[in-house]
Amino acid sequence: MSKIWVVVPTRLPLVLRRCHACASERFRSSGKFRVNANHKLIDAWLLALCTVCGATTKLTVLERLHVRSVRPDLLDLLHGNDLGLAAELLQDPVVRRRNRIALDWDHAWRLDTGGSDQLEGEAIEVLVRFAARIPVRPVRLIAEGFGFSRAEVERLITEGNLVSAVCLSGRLSGDFTFTLKR
Ligand SMILES: [Zn+2]
Repeated sequence: MSKIWVVVPTRLPLVLRRCHACASERFRSSGKFRVNANHKLIDAWLLALCTVCGATTKLTVLERLHVRSVRPDLLDLLHGNDLGLAAELLQDPVVRRRNRIALDWDHAWRLDTGGSDQLEGEAIEVLVRFAARIPVRPVRLIAEGFGFSRAEVERLITEGNLVSAVCLSGRLSGDFTFTLKR
């Protein structure tokens, strides 16, 4: 028996950065951009608001680029405050490094298991797919998917009844497969 589970984002992740106004460390982006064209050069930022005091922070998206070198469809998305573009940029390691930010994905994703089938007396192979690069703990994911406790999942791994080619005890953000032996 094989199944496919999908990790799906439900909203934009929080941006981890220290607020200069109140020392909070979390910002929430609503997908708003600011675009500034000066002569032939263009700058663009993704805006995010401090979750405590509401102060605005700007994440650099485009920096002093020649207007002509920017794809027109990208400009349209920036001007249209496109949520999909915001999600894509936040997941881009280059954007994160440039802005020195990390992301907080807590409560920003869900697991689609395609409904709960009866667990029958056979091995179940599950392919876990990631609709976005969301770092999650496989132990937590598997517990949620089967309705087990985390301790139960840990025990199944220790006993060798839950196996995978990847390490299930850390965090993963890319597709993997595991098998639950019965
Ligand atoms: Zn603040």
